[in-house]
Amino acid sequence: MKACVLASSSKGNCTYIGSETTNILIDAGISVKDIEYKLGLLRVNPENISAILITHEHSDHIKSVYNFTKKYKSCFIYVHKNTYEALLTKLPNLDKRRIIIFYNMDFNIGDLTITSFILPHDASCCVGYSIKNYQNKISICTDLGHTNSDIIQNLCNSKLVILESNHDIDMLKQNPHYSFALKNRILGKYGHLSNNAACEVVEKLAYNNVKQVVLAHLSPENNTPELCYNTMCNYLLSKGIIPNVNIYIEVANKSEIGTVFTLK
Ligand SMILES: [Zn+2]
Ligand SMILES: [Zn+2]
Repeated sequence: MKACVLASSSKGNCTYIGSETTNILIDAGISVKDIEYKLGLLRVNPENISAILITHEHSDHIKSVYNFTKKYKSCFIYVHKNTYEALLTKLPNLDKRRIIIFYNMDFNIGDLTITSFILPHDASCCVGYSIKNYQNKISICTDLGHTNSDIIQNLCNSKLVILESNHDIDMLKQNPHYSFALKNRILGKYGHLSNNAACEVVEKLAYNNVKQVVLAHLSPENNTPELCYNTMCNYLLSKGIIPNVNIYIEVANKSEIGTVFTLK
């Protein structure tokens, strides 16, 4: 099983996950050209992408869902029942025959088994995903204002977790270009996960069999990769968890592909 973050930030999100026989994308928030180029680097033919799993309807996640599925006819769109209407409102020209609506049950795409779980975020509905192939499990959890035990439970025992670490709280509070309302939205219960909040999640994951974490969906304005990484490493060390020994930590690049994780 392979996974690679193709792009991740408040400006555009797309992650590739594949097995020997099945290739999928989580979100398509970057241009088709960019997806094609990056899949090319992974030696994956875009024609062989069988699904895009939508997390929610914000444009940094769905920007090229229409164009990608228009060009690649064998790609289906999977969307949670409570996101379906909002997705169609944003992308009214989507071919409805290519949309598969799921609710709370697990479903299969080829040899991948998909579990979704609800994330608290200011969209009509936002989900994270766990994708399983035999004994391997990869989870993706971005765009959430806070966590709860159900979310943590879904992430436990994943061989790789892609987790939001959106902003540094002080950088955000001091940002002169953000309105008070916008700051409150991001900091709120249905906004985005801060570096500090991500630290506490990763601590729990380290105790629950997770060995690799990619910190993702960084805000270019209110975070830096160095700050995000150092905050995490310092926090883990303070708890007696040694970064990159007990748990591997990487920060997703906002516009370039990251490490290609291969799970066996
Ligand atoms: Zn987002
Ligand atoms: Zn969002």
